[in-house]
Amino acid sequence: MRVIVIGGGLAGLTCAARLAEHRELTVIESRDRLGGQILTELSDGFVIERGAEGFVFRSEAVPRLAANQGMPDELIGQSVMRSYGFDGQTLRELAPGEAATFLGFQVPKDDLGKGIRSLRRGMGSLIWALRGNLDGRVRVRTSTAAQRVEPTDDGARVLLPDGRSLDADAVVVATNARGAAALLTDACGAPAAALDSAPTLSSVTVELAFERAAIEHALDGTGFVVALDAQRDGLRACTFTSAKFIDRAPPRKVSVRLFFRPKAEELQGPDALDDDAWCARALAGLRRVIPVRGMPLRSWVSRWPDALPVFNDAHRAAVAALEATLADTPILLAGSAFHGSGIDAAVRSGDQAAQRLLDASG
Ligand SMILES: Cc1cc2nc3c(=O)[nH]c(=O)nc-3n(C[C@H](O)[C@H](O)[C@H](O)COP(=O)(O)OP(=O)(O)OC[C@H]3O[C@@H](n4cnc5c(N)ncnc54)[C@H](O)[C@@H]3O)c2cc1C
Repeated sequence: MRVIVIGGGLAGLTCAARLAEHRELTVIESRDRLGGQILTELSDGFVIERGAEGFVFRSEAVPRLAANQGMPDELIGQSVMRSYGFDGQTLRELAPGEAATFLGFQVPKDDLGKGIRSLRRGMGSLIWALRGNLDGRVRVRTSTAAQRVEPTDDGARVLLPDGRSLDADAVVVATNARGAAALLTDACGAPAAALDSAPTLSSVTVELAFERAAIEHALDGTGFVVALDAQRDGLRACTFTSAKFIDRAPPRKVSVRLFFRPKAEELQGPDALDDDAWCARALAGLRRVIPVRGMPLRSWVSRWPDALPVFNDAHRAAVAALEATLADTPILLAGSAFHGSGIDAAVRSGDQAAQRLLDASG
C-alpha cells in the first residue's frame, strides 16, 4: 500500500513514523526543512526555540513518541513554576494558572498551573530523531508544495508543482487549514473552500541573550505576562528561557524570549518591521519591566504569520463538514489545524490518521 503524507510538521512525521514499517511512504513538504512550527537552533551553548517550546504536562502521546524514537531520557520539566504579571507599574507573582488564562490560551482547566514539559536539546530534537529514523525507509521531498489532491477510482492523486502527479492508495493532508483548502477545493468544493477563511493568529518571538550580570532581576520564574490594558507594541509575554528549562544558555549567560501579537502590516508590506525593529521593541519592552544594562549579546527574531489556529464553533463545523465530504475517499486530514491546537494534539492526530489507515487495510 502506498501512502503520501502532505506536510512534514510534527503531525505528518508522527503519521509517517507509525506507517513506515507497513507502507510505502512519501512525505511532501513545501519548506526546505521538516518540522513545521517546531524549529530549534543550537548555537554557542544556547538552545533557541523559534517555534513551540514544549507540550502540555498531561500529554501521554508526546513522551510515547519520544520513547519510540529512541529518546526516552530526554524529557525535562520546568525548573521553576512561579510566574509574574506586569500591570504597567509593577511585577507581581501570579497564582498558578493565572498566566495562561490571562493570555487566553485554550488550555483545559486540568492543565492550568501544571506547566509544560520539553526535551533537553529542544523540541527540534524530536524532529531530528523522526527524520533520522525515517531516513532510507521513506521518500522525503522537501521544497515541494503539493498543488492539489483528488480521489481516483482506486486511491488518490497528488499534483506536484512541476505538473507531474503521484498516485497512492491513500493521502494524509497534514498541512495548515488554508493549505488544505488549496489542495482540496477542486475535489471537494465548498466544504474545502470554507477552510480558506479559517481564523488564525500570528506571532513574532524575539529571543535575546545577555550576560547574567546585565539583568537586574532574580529570574526566579518562568517569565511574565503583560496585562491587556498595559500591553504596548503587541508585547504580551516574556519567558525567562534559561530559568524555565535547564541547559538553555551557557554559564554566566541568560536568554529571555519576548512574545508579540503583531499587526498584519507589521509582518508584510511596506511597513513591515525588520529584525532590528523587532529587537528594539523587545529590548524596550523588557526594560519597561526589568532593569537591563547594556545591549543583548545576540538576538533571534522568528515570524509566524497566520500560524495559530483558533478553534471557534465555525472552524470546528468547517472541519467536520470537510471530513464528512472526504469520508468515502482515502484522503484524511491530520494536524493541529484540524484537531486541536498544540504539540500534543498534533501528535495524537497524526497517530490517529495512521491508525485509521492501518485499520482500513488490516
Ligand atoms: C511561536 C509558536 C510557539 C508555539 N508554542 C507552542 C508550545 O509551547 N506548546 C504547544 O503545544 N504548541 C505550541 N505551538 C503550536 C505547535 O507548534 C503546533 O500546534 C504544532 O507544531 C503543529 O504541528 P502540525 O504538524 O499540525 O502543523 P505544522 O507544524 O504547521 O506543519 C504543517 C506543515 O505542512 C506544510 N505544508 C503546508 N502546505 C503544504 C503543501 N501544499 N505541500 C507540502 N507541504 C505543505 C507546512 O510547510 C508545514 O511544515 C506554537 C506555535 C508557534 C508558531
